[in-house]
Amino acid sequence: MATIDPDTGLITNIDKVREAEYPSLASTTYLDHAGTTLYAKSLIDAYSRELTQNLFGNPHSASASSQLSSRRIDDVRLQVLRFFSADPDSFDVVFVANATAAIKLVADAFRDNDNGFRYQYHIDSHTSLIGVRELASRSSTCLNGDGEVEDWLSGLEHPNANSNGDLSLFAYPAQSNMTGRRLPLQWNQRILHARKSYSQPVYTLLDAAALVSTAALDLSDASTAPDFTAVSFYKIFGFPPLGALIVRKDSAKVLLQRRYFGGGTVDMVTVSGDAWHATKETSLHSRLEDGTLPFTNIVALQLAMEQHKRLYGSMSRVSRHASYLADTLRAQLRDLRHANGHQLCTIYNNGLLQDARQGPVIAFNLRDSDGKYISNSEVEKLGIVKNIQFRTGQLCNPGGVATHIGLSPDELRRNYAAGHRCGDDNDVLQGKPTGVIRVSLGAMSSPKDVTDFVDLLKEFYVDLNPIQSSTTEPVGNLSAAPQVNKFIVESLAVFPIKSCAAYKIPPGVSWDVGVKGLAWDREWCLVHQGTNIAMSQKRFPRMALVRPEVDLQRYVLRLTAELDSTRVRKLEVSLDSKPRSMSSINTCESTTNKSSNVCGEDVDVHVYTSPEVAGFFTDVLGVPCTLARFPGHGTIRQVRVRIPGTGKDATKVGRSIALANESPILLVSRSSVNRLNEQIKHNGGVGKAVAADSFRGNIVIAEDPGAGQFENPYAEDDWTGLQIGDEVNNTFEMLGPCQRCQMVCVDQKSAKRRQEPFSTLAKTRRKDGRVWFGMHMCLGLQEMTAISIQVGDRVTPYFGL
Ligand SMILES: *Cc1c(COP(=O)(O)O)cnc(C)c1O
Repeated sequence: MATIDPDTGLITNIDKVREAEYPSLASTTYLDHAGTTLYAKSLIDAYSRELTQNLFGNPHSASASSQLSSRRIDDVRLQVLRFFSADPDSFDVVFVANATAAIKLVADAFRDNDNGFRYQYHIDSHTSLIGVRELASRSSTCLNGDGEVEDWLSGLEHPNANSNGDLSLFAYPAQSNMTGRRLPLQWNQRILHARKSYSQPVYTLLDAAALVSTAALDLSDASTAPDFTAVSFYKIFGFPPLGALIVRKDSAKVLLQRRYFGGGTVDMVTVSGDAWHATKETSLHSRLEDGTLPFTNIVALQLAMEQHKRLYGSMSRVSRHASYLADTLRAQLRDLRHANGHQLCTIYNNGLLQDARQGPVIAFNLRDSDGKYISNSEVEKLGIVKNIQFRTGQLCNPGGVATHIGLSPDELRRNYAAGHRCGDDNDVLQGKPTGVIRVSLGAMSSPKDVTDFVDLLKEFYVDLNPIQSSTTEPVGNLSAAPQVNKFIVESLAVFPIKSCAAYKIPPGVSWDVGVKGLAWDREWCLVHQGTNIAMSQKRFPRMALVRPEVDLQRYVLRLTAELDSTRVRKLEVSLDSKPRSMSSINTCESTTNKSSNVCGEDVDVHVYTSPEVAGFFTDVLGVPCTLARFPGHGTIRQVRVRIPGTGKDATKVGRSIALANESPILLVSRSSVNRLNEQIKHNGGVGKAVAADSFRGNIVIAEDPGAGQFENPYAEDDWTGLQIGDEVNNTFEMLGPCQRCQMVCVDQKSAKRRQEPFSTLAKTRRKDGRVWFGMHMCLGLQEMTAISIQVGDRVTPYFGL
């Protein structure tokens, strides 16, 4: 049981509570309680006991097990009303899947009104409320802020108000899921008053999903309560995934206009002759709950309320604890300044400290010392590397985001036309962010969570240099010695299967390079059988364990995967692209054509349907997946390289790739890797040096500094091209630096994730808020069909044209 500091409201023994109840928090900093809070171990234990010790049947019959479920559901319904201090004489609970389903239930009933309905919603609404407008056949209006709501309410409040008798629904969030601002609950009372005193057929739908997660919702005064209140229980207790619509009984009639019926909502139905049905006459909830209730979830809800009370006492205690931490965090974020005095964080809706009208949620953006916005997806990548979890983007709250950032509908459309989609990487357009960072606290948050997050920003984003800002720092190497040492090709690698391990080309073997890069590079990929999306190590680090070998003698791709120290699996696939060539090996290469999603782009690939192939990859990775092949002739994918300083993707016409993400060939310099490793060591990362393999380059070059000379790290940043070997035709064009993500943190030997090298790269190789390492390149003379290179070849860089 939590003990509370009476002055601050902080739970003083939170570390003990976390240790006992939330063991998973030991290894992570969780700041997304507005997404979902976490379930306590004792809840899951109690739930497991409850289910094993009892027999819960489908609630619709007379058997003992069925009766047990029915009785339990009745109990829980009452407990839910008590949880919100709602009088069972005035309110009923309708169980639904989640808050969105509760909202949709109301919307469906209003739509079924013979004359349709008018819909008014607040600009701070979650998309779940916004979508209702598509059902409002008479009109829908977005009220642009509290002032417009007040004006509209005043319009309702006199005897000859122009009501025109149309049924109307007003919806708003009790708390913004973006900023945490709590909106006035008195609006419900005013609407109730307008309905009773001036016969305005207006009803209120309160989206309380965000509010109830960290605050008590008190419906004890029926004269101020909304008509319909939507909640999701997982947001309060972490479990079960279940929602409810709390309905004022005296407003229920309007919901009963709903035409659909299903499952237990009817008493009698005829299906032949005149279709006729008699809806349940009993309770309101039984007429609105379609089909079998999620009865085990409802059992879990009862336990969730009990355990929560045992652990925290009450919602107002949770509220004080989380608010105190959020206030501390907000104050610290506001104090973060660059050396030139500029603030790092632009916080949206600065709540007053300890204000009851502000939930424990902070939405903000970061700006560098020049005042330029920092890409949120980049901040998120560092969060992933540092194991700190928070949300970025539009947060399903387009109105709130647009208002606070100051994006006009025109700008939003332009961003959409420019290719921006919610959740993508391109999140600063025309100098404005397209979303926000949101951190949110909850019952089991601790002061350490606050410190961890502030430390992340201090470490990576506070610019300590009073003069030069971090964004003006070029990726190029300012101190590059004019005299360049001799570089040679240290190693060559191909990645036959995109995102799996490398095949190192043995020294002495000369390897073909064509317009699409090194032969056999990224010819194949793995596709998830459920989604058809090309898989990557970002999500499936175990892909690094699939080791390929290109055997040109036997013309096979040999795959080995070490599941653990004793089990090794092997598979061979013919290199011949034609499925009819059944080679001596065991794979039946029956393939089908499918459109697969590679890096956000649809590509037609041949998918291997043989159970043996699919079985191999599914076993190794533990997800249902199979191999797919780039079709080769006829399919052209274009190079797409982002050029720092332009904020744009550059597409080089005529430069094609197979299944690689951006360019045909990636060049990595050993000297740059060495420099990076020195910096990692310098930053306290002793023993955390990374192998050049981490960068998954095709060509690793190394230099041999003569006696007394130094290496030239990052010299390649300034090259425009290079020649490999002595053949003058063996020229390559540099396309630009390679933008990096947290995937470089996957150790290519063990498939384990680490913090380095991304953490140090983010400090030393950042431009435009993004992190760069290695160079993209392609064949210089595109008309050449192929050249060949090998380990040990001399590398001659070009500068300028
Ligand atoms: C989370 C949330 C929702 C959606 O809840 P679901 O459980 O996904 O249906 C709607 N509105 C607000 C304010 C929320 O915070």
